[in-house]
Amino acid sequence: MNNPDSTTQSVISAAIERLHSEPFPSDVLPSQATIEATRKQLLATLPNDGLGLTETIRHLQDDLKPGLNGASRSANYYGFVTGGATPIASISDNFVTACDQNVQVHLPTETIATDIEDRALSLLCELLDFKPESWPHRTFTTGATASNVLGLACGREYVIAEASAHRTDAENSVGEYGIVEAMYRAGIDKIQILTTVPHSSLSKAASILGLGRASVKTIGREDAPHKFDMKVLRSLLEQPSSASIVAVSASEVNTGLFATSGLEDMQELRSLCDMYGAWIHVDGAFGILGRVLHGAKYEAIIQACAGLELADSITGDGHKLLNVPYDCGFFLSRHRNIAERVFQNPNAAYLATSNGPDSIMSPLNIGVENSRRFRALPVYASLVAYGKSGYRDMLERQIELSRGIAKFILESEDYELLPESDASTEETLSGIYIIVLFRAKNEELNKRLIESIKATRKIYVSGTSWNGQPACRFAISNWRVDVKKDLLLIREVLQEVVAAKTS
Ligand SMILES: *Cc1c(COP(=O)(O)O)cnc(C)c1O
Repeated sequence: MNNPDSTTQSVISAAIERLHSEPFPSDVLPSQATIEATRKQLLATLPNDGLGLTETIRHLQDDLKPGLNGASRSANYYGFVTGGATPIASISDNFVTACDQNVQVHLPTETIATDIEDRALSLLCELLDFKPESWPHRTFTTGATASNVLGLACGREYVIAEASAHRTDAENSVGEYGIVEAMYRAGIDKIQILTTVPHSSLSKAASILGLGRASVKTIGREDAPHKFDMKVLRSLLEQPSSASIVAVSASEVNTGLFATSGLEDMQELRSLCDMYGAWIHVDGAFGILGRVLHGAKYEAIIQACAGLELADSITGDGHKLLNVPYDCGFFLSRHRNIAERVFQNPNAAYLATSNGPDSIMSPLNIGVENSRRFRALPVYASLVAYGKSGYRDMLERQIELSRGIAKFILESEDYELLPESDASTEETLSGIYIIVLFRAKNEELNKRLIESIKATRKIYVSGTSWNGQPACRFAISNWRVDVKKDLLLIREVLQEVVAAKTS
């Protein structure tokens, strides 16, 4: 019989120390052989007698870990917007596990966990140049998808209540009556989500919430699909018997482009939405970090993030540009009353708290989960450790690398930067955030481009399609970016795959 509990604390500390002292991987992925070999090591059935602590640690470390891709730990993994984890965030994540603290109910005489979570959120507001007091409904979620679910849930509650206020005098709540009856009472027969270049999770959120994927309507301009066609937007908002949520893509995953380009754009959206009782939700999963930037070099991004404080709710991701471990997103909303109407656990006396109007809200009554991981701690620790300028520096390095790659592509005979544009090099580069979309000019090479780049095992990129053709994408989101060194390697790989094709 092996009882894991009988082994000493020193085995645990040795294992954790080993994990944190391992060098960062130089390969972006394990080899196929390693993947297959490690997969075979998985226990096929539940052992009757457990392996015990020491043997299980060995099993994880030696048999299984080599088969994990550890993509976020590699500095040259540029597939998807994954982010990495700053060292302080990694360590505090172990802290979270060791403490096993539930952050569910605000119990100020028993724990400061909810104070830490709320402080992490207000520091985050400061980082993003939002007034913490303007966002009284704020919480950590499992990621941006979950935050989008919260945004649409709050929006749904709000727009139906607004429609009711205008058409009847009755207090009307989806949380109370359900969507069918609430819509019936409000005299509306349609809820539409009006957006441009949405992330796929927005439609997923619409499906979960009973709004339906078909309710997501893309109304981008023909000449600039990421921008709202304001004429179309106005005509849809005006439609009788319908209520609307406007979802602003504050940086889109394929191109890194933003839906708005200045305070006036957001002001125009705000006044239109106020006129028609619509809710504005911003999906700023990684774009919202653009608000830490300063200086002329970043003016286009700064403008694209201007006015986002006029939104009703905002989605942000922790595991992307905040560079904390997975299982972390955040959600901000200006409407505290809506939070309670949507997420309140009714009649749960055993969960009661002393929620005064100015106190910290119990997380269980303002988000999806009841019992929750203390995911706020790595955010708190990383914000404290780096400060505003540390995060600004991190993002500036990521943007400089992206612009370096884009410049190389613009000057190259073999590659073409996407979306195609007639703008000057300078203007094009000033609009680049952390995504670089491109393709090879040679059609044969372009078809195999992603695979050829990945086959070098030096860098990793992901594929997408652009105007019906394959395209390739760098997403720069790791705190470890070293502009000079990484750019050298990337140029070398991009030249290597062209040379291999022609030789
Ligand atoms: C990544 C991303 C999401 C989804 O985030 P998860 O953390 O993977 O749930 C949503 N919206 C945008 C714009 C994203 O980039």
